[in-house]
Amino acid sequence: MSTLSPAVPKFETVGCIGLGLMGHGIAQAAAQSDFKVIAFEQEQRFLDSGRSRIEGSLGKMLKREKITQEKYDQIMGNITYSTNMDDLKDTDLVVEAVIENMDLKKDIYGSLGGICKPEAIFASNTSSLSITDMANVSGRPERFVGVHFFNPVQMMKLVEVIRTEHTHPDVFDACHGWVGDINKIAVSCNDTPGFIVNRLLVPFLTQALLMVDRNDASIKDIDISMQLGAGHPMGPLHLADFIGLDTINNIITGWVEEFPDEPAFEVPKCLTEKIEAGDLGRKTGKGFYHWGEGDKRGDAVE
Ligand code: NAD
Repeated sequence: MSTLSPAVPKFETVGCIGLGLMGHGIAQAAAQSDFKVIAFEQEQRFLDSGRSRIEGSLGKMLKREKITQEKYDQIMGNITYSTNMDDLKDTDLVVEAVIENMDLKKDIYGSLGGICKPEAIFASNTSSLSITDMANVSGRPERFVGVHFFNPVQMMKLVEVIRTEHTHPDVFDACHGWVGDINKIAVSCNDTPGFIVNRLLVPFLTQALLMVDRNDASIKDIDISMQLGAGHPMGPLHLADFIGLDTINNIITGWVEEFPDEPAFEVPKCLTEKIEAGDLGRKTGKGFYHWGEGDKRGDAVE
């Protein structure tokens, strides 16, 4: 285990890379807790779309009187939007939430390593990729963790904080503490496939999709069964649409490749078909359900 020099920085400025489904929520959560946030996307149009998502979410809170206009302005004022990665150079903690692609993530950490100050800490929001593999290309493996948020970030309290064998304990503790600072609940986990939640959840979801493949039961009946019979707040197909079918597909195909002998890992045919059709769930308006603007419950695609 390496020692740290200089010490872990006091977190004041947080960089967020990728402002998609997860990244905009992470940027918002940090800004709401008064951290200065530098929000980065490669392209202006994606930056604009992340910004409107944050404005939309805070706008709802304002309308429901959960925050005042003053607080709204303060939170928005905490976020700087940028398409220039160099703007991340003074950040203390960088949270990366770009698409689940190891080559892309490695490219980003390779560049970031040369841009950010030496004491800055990097954290990936990956759902399924090896934190160790990313840490190894960052040039600072002792300052690298996973911080796995859940969707929608604004509502979900849990964050899994993941350590590799290289993560310095002080870095881990600082990141665990930061999760509490942004009003979330941290759990600790080693760098293992799927960490805690997805290692249990993804095989469960894919089993439900395999039931669809076999035509064992309808989409609606599978979902109702797990709600009323197992007490789940939403059924597995409904949840799959919320998560994004591309995200689930990326996870399960990666695991099947890496762990071909694990019987719990199997890619359902209906998942492949939905991806090929571009039906990725709620974010594209269609997956196993049809989703209208702002829908919390769509109609099943039978
Ligand atoms: P998303 O597709 O909604 O957003 C990804 C964002 O990354 C997009 O806005 C895209 O423009 C941006 N991006 C792509 N290349 C980039 C680059 N080179 N530089 C900067 N930005 C770039 O995806 P998401 O669902 O938010 O997932 C992001 C990460 O979070 C993934 O690693 C995923 O596994 C993980 N995650 C997802 C969920 C979920 O429920 N969707 C939950 C937890 C973790």
